[in-house]
Amino acid sequence: MAVVKRTSDNVLLDTALKNFYAATEEMGLEDGLVEILSRSERKTCVSIPVEMDDGTVKVFDGFRVAHSSAVGPAKGGVRFHPEVCLDECEALAFMMTWKCSLAGIPYGGGKGGVCCNPLEISPKEKERICRTFAARIEPVVGAWTDIPAPDVNTGGQEMVWFMDTISKMRGRLEPAIFTGKPIPLWGSKGRNAATGLGVATCAIELMNVLGKPVEGATVAVQGFGNVGTFAALTMIDAGAKVIAISDITGTYYCKDGLDIKKAFDHVSNHPKKLLEGFEQPGLEKRDLAALVTTECDILLPCALEGAINGKNADEVKAKYIVEGANGPITPEADAVLDGKGILIVPDFLANSGGVIGSYFEWCQDLGGFFWTQEDYNNRLLRIMKDNFKRVWDYSQNKNVKMRRAAFMAAIQRVADAVKMRGVFM
Ligand code: GLU
Repeated sequence: MAVVKRTSDNVLLDTALKNFYAATEEMGLEDGLVEILSRSERKTCVSIPVEMDDGTVKVFDGFRVAHSSAVGPAKGGVRFHPEVCLDECEALAFMMTWKCSLAGIPYGGGKGGVCCNPLEISPKEKERICRTFAARIEPVVGAWTDIPAPDVNTGGQEMVWFMDTISKMRGRLEPAIFTGKPIPLWGSKGRNAATGLGVATCAIELMNVLGKPVEGATVAVQGFGNVGTFAALTMIDAGAKVIAISDITGTYYCKDGLDIKKAFDHVSNHPKKLLEGFEQPGLEKRDLAALVTTECDILLPCALEGAINGKNADEVKAKYIVEGANGPITPEADAVLDGKGILIVPDFLANSGGVIGSYFEWCQDLGGFFWTQEDYNNRLLRIMKDNFKRVWDYSQNKNVKMRRAAFMAAIQRVADAVKMRGVFM
C-alpha cells in the first residue's frame, strides 16, 4: 500500500511535509518509516486563563508539540505571536527534528507557542501567561522528554518564569528543562548570540566555497531581533557591509553601510526593542516590504515565515540567501529564486546555531559545570562549519539543491534511529 500523504491548510506545515515527502522519495525510504516520521508523537493544546491588569480575565491558547523522540528528547522553542496555532507548532516541531538531526545533536523536534500579541500585553501580564502556560504543559516537558527554549518574542526572562514555575511545582530546581536562560540562572555564555553567529558563519562559508570575498560584500538583514542583530554584527566583524536592516517599523537603508553597533544599542535601549527613531548620516528610511528586494550580495531573512513568497520573489535582487528564520521562503518563491539562479542555504542548516547552543547549555546544566565563552564559540563554529561543508558536498555530489540535500541527510539519521529502536518507542 502506498504512503498516505498528509497535507495541510497551513502553508508552513504543508511546505514542510512536501519537502519531506520529496526527499523520502528520492531516498527510497520505506513506507512505514515515512508514515511514522510524517506524524507527531504528541500534540498538546492548553488554555491559559490570565487576569489582566485591568481586572478582566482573558483566556489565551497555548500549544506544545513533540514531533519525534527517536534520537533523543524533543527540543525546540516557544513563540509568542498572534498567528500561533497548532499546525504552525507542528510544522516547526517537524522542522526541529530535521534541524537537530542534521546538527548531529542528541535531540528530536519539539515546538510550542502562545497565541498572543506581545506588543499589547504588559510585563506583568506576560509573566502570568508564562507561568500558567508552564504549569499547563508541565506533564509533557522535562530534561529527558521535551526541552523548550526561546523563539519569536521570547527570551531569557520567559525561560526563567517557565523554569521557576516548574521547579516550584516539582519541589526541586529543574534547570535543564529550558535552555536560553540568562547566564546567572543556569544559562550559558554565548547562547544569546549563537543563532545569529551560526547564520553569519553559513554565509561566510558559502562565500568561501564559492571563492568570493566576504570583505566588502553587501548584506541585507530582515528582522533585527535576536537572530538578525547577531548575524549582522558577525557579518560586520568579517568585513562585510550591512546596507539594510528592518523590523516592524520599516527598512533602514544606507548604501555606504549601516552602523550596526549603534543600531544594536538603539534597539537595546528602546522600550519595545525596536529600530523606530534610529538615525545615522546617509540613512534612508524605506517601507518594510523594501528589505527583501534590496540590491545586495547576501540576503539574510531573519524574521518570520513566508517573508519571500510568490508576490515578491521575482523582485529579489540578492545573489545568495541564507535563511535565518524558520521557513522564510515559500515553495512558490523557492522555484522562482531557483530560476533566477539564487543560491539558498536552508533554514534548518543555517539557523541551527541556536539549538546547538542550547545543547551546550543543557550539557552544562546536567553536569553543573560551566564553560567559557571561548569554549562555547569554538565548539559552535567547528560544528557549524562541518555541517555546512557536509551539506554542501552532499548537494554537489548528488547534484541536488542544498535544501534537498539537508533533508535527505537529516531524515536518514532519524530513520536509522527508528529502525534500530523498533516501531514503538
Ligand atoms: N527557537 C530556536 C530554533 O528554532 C532554538 C530552539 C532551541 O534552542 O531549542 O531553532
